[in-house]
Amino acid sequence: MNSFDVAIIGSGPAGASAAFELSKSGISTVIIEKETLPRYKTCGGGLVYRGRKTLPFDVSSAVEKEFYEVDTYFANTAIKVTSKRDQPIISMIMRDAFDNLIVEKAKENGVTLLQNHKVEDITFGDIQTIHTSEGDVKAKFIIAGDGALSPVAKMAGWQETRTIIPALEYEVEVPQADFERLSKNVRFDVDAIPYGYAWCFPKKNHLSIGVGVFVKNKEKMDLKKYYAEYLKVLGITEILSEDAHGFVIPVSPRTDTFVQKNVFLIGDSAGFADPIVAEGISNAIVSGILAAKSIIESKLDPDKAAKLYQEKLEQSILPEIKTGVIVAKFFYNKKALRNIIIKKYGQAFSDAMTDVFLGNRTYPKDYKASIRKRIKEAIF
Ligand SMILES: Cc1cc2nc3c(=O)[nH]c(=O)nc-3n(C[C@H](O)[C@H](O)[C@H](O)COP(=O)(O)OP(=O)(O)OC[C@H]3O[C@@H](n4cnc5c(N)ncnc54)[C@H](O)[C@@H]3O)c2cc1C
Repeated sequence: MNSFDVAIIGSGPAGASAAFELSKSGISTVIIEKETLPRYKTCGGGLVYRGRKTLPFDVSSAVEKEFYEVDTYFANTAIKVTSKRDQPIISMIMRDAFDNLIVEKAKENGVTLLQNHKVEDITFGDIQTIHTSEGDVKAKFIIAGDGALSPVAKMAGWQETRTIIPALEYEVEVPQADFERLSKNVRFDVDAIPYGYAWCFPKKNHLSIGVGVFVKNKEKMDLKKYYAEYLKVLGITEILSEDAHGFVIPVSPRTDTFVQKNVFLIGDSAGFADPIVAEGISNAIVSGILAAKSIIESKLDPDKAAKLYQEKLEQSILPEIKTGVIVAKFFYNKKALRNIIIKKYGQAFSDAMTDVFLGNRTYPKDYKASIRKRIKEAIF
């Protein structure tokens, strides 16, 4: 039987980054992954600069395109704003290559990868026994980087307290003339779908086009219909090939702790994607690194590690996400009011979001006063 200090379930950016961080400390670590790597992952593949610069090694071999400017359109208005920077605001990746690159870096440092091993059950104790489709693995600590559905969180007893939103993404090949026209810019189209946005992310030879609903609402949304309408907005009339992938993104953190039974939740399993744009890769990487650091600094003491992880989250990503949850509700639910502000301050909004993407700032702590001030200035 395989026995390790730490077992990480899932080889996405969260799990793979945790593994890389642990691998530097000499703590014995295994990644348990149900798929065979490299594996496809439903994702727009927009890696914002704050996520890219958090990784402790160069990922340019997995980058298909880099964009130094970003366009945001507001549907049914004439508003379009563009922000430009000297750094690549968004790098385009395909997740099979990107996630696998991080796993390979961890493997180079001695991490064991058990792929094609689906975690089916866990017997919890001082030493945890992880029952996989290919046999048992023992570990003192479990880090759950098993994504939005997080079967491991369910096994450990977590209830569902995250806000989970649906998103639909297509990998699309279009005729050469359309590709040339659309591959020059990365664009977000707010309100191309109610309570959400659509995106067009150009990759090396194709476009990743998607729609997502970003706040909980009562309407049942036909995502396919909005995707079809968005193609018209983009001026796409002919499609050479199209691969549809639907999935969910948790856009608010769990409210009932991030550690139980010596299981540490990271990335989507914890609900750490950005609530306004559902950009999940950056905080997946950050939380993976923080969980690993907590275990390392605790010298493998479970209580100390759990306390350290909570402290580190509160000092870093949690305050920003909590603000983001409230700003997202205003942004998507109060469309008319938001558009009044955007008409006047659209450029400032786009620049501020770009600075968040670059990791140069977070959302304002005094967001309520800030929104009130902008409303007053825009109306009077
Ligand atoms: C349509 C869509 C578009 C998106 N676009 C973007 C974007 O452009 N930019 C961005 O930053 N974010 C985007 N996101 C969000 C982003 O994909 C996630 O936030 C991110 O992948 C979270 O990483 P993770 O490591 O936590 O989980 P994941 O990347 O989901 O990795 C989880 C891993 O766990 C494995 N696993 C699951 N269950 C088991 C099991 N029982 N046993 C073993 N292994 C298991 C899975 O196979 C998988 O490899 C998008 C999401 C969607 C759905």
